[in-house]
This record gives sequence, C-alpha cells and structure tokens, in this order.
Amino acid sequence: MALDEDGIRLLQVVGLYSSVYTEIGTCKSAAARYFREEESRLGNKLTKAQFIGVIGGTEPVLDKPAFVEMDYGTTEGGTGHIGFICHKQPALEKGLRDRMAALKACELRSGCEFVCTTTHKGSRKDSSCFFVGADWKTGFTRKQYLEPKGIIMEQAHQAFYEEVWVALNWQIDLPSEKTQLGYTPEQVYDLFFPIDFRFICNPRRPAVCGRFGLPSDRLWRFEFFVMKDEGGDEMSKPEKIKEVVFPYIRHAGSQYDLSQDVAFPEDCIKVLRSRPFKFSARSCNRWSDGRVILCGDAAHIFPPFGGQGIASGFRDAVSIAWRLVILCNNQSLVKTVHERVLKAWYKERKQQPEKSLASTIENGRFVTEKIR
Ligand SMILES: Cc1cc2nc3c(=O)[nH]c(=O)nc-3n(C[C@H](O)[C@H](O)[C@H](O)COP(=O)(O)OP(=O)(O)OC[C@H]3O[C@@H](n4cnc5c(N)ncnc54)[C@H](O)[C@@H]3O)c2cc1C
Repeated sequence: MALDEDGIRLLQVVGLYSSVYTEIGTCKSAAARYFREEESRLGNKLTKAQFIGVIGGTEPVLDKPAFVEMDYGTTEGGTGHIGFICHKQPALEKGLRDRMAALKACELRSGCEFVCTTTHKGSRKDSSCFFVGADWKTGFTRKQYLEPKGIIMEQAHQAFYEEVWVALNWQIDLPSEKTQLGYTPEQVYDLFFPIDFRFICNPRRPAVCGRFGLPSDRLWRFEFFVMKDEGGDEMSKPEKIKEVVFPYIRHAGSQYDLSQDVAFPEDCIKVLRSRPFKFSARSCNRWSDGRVILCGDAAHIFPPFGGQGIASGFRDAVSIAWRLVILCNNQSLVKTVHERVLKAWYKERKQQPEKSLASTIENGRFVTEKIR
C-alpha cells in the first residue's frame, strides 16, 4: 500500500514513472494539501483534510484533530520524489510484468517448477549461475538450501515484534443520491473515508486506515490489532468487522444537527479482502551462501508501520542485479570472487533494513503503546 520515495525512484529506473500516478497510486498528502487549500479558499470545512494523522482516544472517530501530523507530500527526502504514495499492488505488479515483457531482458515463467540439480536424467534441466529466492517469509529457498548451512531468520534488534492484525480492503461505491442535507455522493464519501492516512492510537484497539490506489478506485484499507485471547480468523469475520470497523463509519447526528446517528450505507461497501496477518520484525543472519541468494521478505520482514517492505525488496533486487550481471558475464569471477561480491552486497544492503526495522518497530510501539 505505502511505497516510499526510493521505491518511486526505482520504478522510474525501470521505466514505470509515467504510470506511477496514472495507474499505480496517489500521494494522499498532496491530495490532502490540495483539499486544505480548497477549504481555506472556499471557507468550508467539508473534508477536514490532514496529512498523515496520528489520532488518539477510545471513541471510534476518524475525523478528529491529529496530535502528530506528517506531510508525506514533501520532497525533502532528497530523491526529488514525494515521501510516499499509497498504491494498489496489483497495478504495480502488472506494470512490472509489462516492463519485463517489453524489455526482453528477462523472461517470466509462472506456474512451473524449478529444480536445482546438477545431474540430469531424462527431464528438463535448468541450470544457472545463481539462484535468487524472493519467495516470501515462508522461505522455501531458505529452508531447502540455506538453513542447513546455518542461515536462519532471526529476530531483528532486541525488540521482537510478532503480533496478529486483521487487514481488510474495501472498495467503496458512491451513494446514489444527493442527501437531504445537500451533500453530493462524492462529499458523503469524503466525509466518511478521509483522504489521508490515519494511525489510530486507540488504547483499546490500535488500528491504521487510509485510502489507496487512484482516487477513482475508491479503495480503503483498515488494519486492526487482534488481542491475545482473540483469534485472527474469528476477528476477520463480517460480524466482528461490524463490531470493530463499522463504528468508525458512523457519525453522531449532532454533527449535522440531526437527532439520529448517520452511517455510511453498508450496501455501498464491497469487501475485497478481510484476513489476519502475523506482523513480524525479522531478518536473516546472512542473505546468501554459495550461489543461492535471498531477497525481499525472504531475507527480512517488516511489520507495516513504516511502509518499508516493498521498497526494501526493490533495493535488494536492484543492488544484486548489476552485481550478478558482472559475475555472469565473467565466469572466471564466479569461480574466484563471487562470495566476496555477495558478502559486500550483504554488508551494503543490511544497513538499510536494520535502520528501517528499528524505526518501524518504534513507530509500531508508538501506535500500540497502551495495550503492550
Ligand atoms: C497486511 C500487510 C500490509 C502491508 N503493507 C505494506 C505497505 O504498506 N508497504 C510496504 O512496503 N509493504 C507492506 N507490506 C509488506 C509487503 O507486502 C512485502 O514486504 C512485499 O510484498 C515483499 O515482497 P517479496 O517479493 O519479497 O515477497 P511476496 O510479495 O510475498 O512475493 C513472494 C512470491 O513468491 C512466491 N513463492 C513463494 N514460495 C514459492 C515457491 N516455493 N515457488 C515459487 N514461488 C513461490 C509467492 O507465491 C509470491 O508470489 C504489507 C504486508 C502485509 C501482510
């Protein structure tokens, strides 16, 4: 969902910049800034736009002043790109696949089995100089080839984060008619689903929520903490979602001079996903052995309080790719120095996940403080 400025830069590197804001995502801070300017120009407070807002309190209200606010529309990070976009992952992946097909520098083969073997009896043999496993935290490559050689996925820093959250994605339809109060369907949507991202430091149940994808996609993410005595599967069920999430899209009638509360119409909400995830902070003690290499979540896992998982995987891939090109084009190097090259790659790369994991964990602590 969140892709930081370096991730955007790397999409530009592979030739995808033109679709970053037209197909993949939007910078919500930039959108919020626009709405703020509109608000002050028009003198109304319809959207109550903030940037990334950190809100507190136990009452389920999204539209309240943030006690910390971050502007991710800024270009102060130094890459020249805005802080981050909230993107739609299928659009991002489609863009990458299309680029692979167009560049012809690589070939995507899905649904097939890769057998690492040195002997060949009758069946097809795939051989390569190097094998890079970017196969998620379950880590088939790690378990199969690297754990026997002492590579393990271990806790990151002293602060070990391992908690279950439910993540749901909704697609919102606009309510069909103008309301009695004169709001247009688009305005009703804006009132109930704030434009910008929220960290909800509710000590009873921390949560995060925000829109993602293009504005026209009207996609909304809500992630909430699952208590130790609750089951993740149970808490993902519609009746539990009604208990936990729906109060946030119900407004007090007094807000509109009405005697009854007002809720966003349920039949305008399509549930795209509602399921539990274990959020962890882990990293492997080494990322390669011999000619087998780990990248992305297979090498390091972030809890999603800093939006660093995808960008870190991109960085791994980009920084290993040019090294492998040099090695593969110089077979003599593979025989002599490849281990040194891979060690240097790990030494260079591990600095960023270490720092990002530390700040992500800190961010997570901040959001979940009272319940821990
Ligand atoms: C709820 C949630 C919210 C998140 N939010 C963010 C966010 O806002 N920003 C962010 O940057 N990150 C976020 N992340 C983390 C992000 O999704 C991951 O860091 C990222 O997807 C890792 O990319 P990857 O390519 O390493 O692994 P994946 O995206 O997991 O891809 C691994 C692929 O390997 C395949 N695979 C696995 N085993 C095998 C096998 N044996 N053979 C063949 N294929 C195999 C899988 O099918 C999969 O397609 C979030 C994660 C979760 C769960």
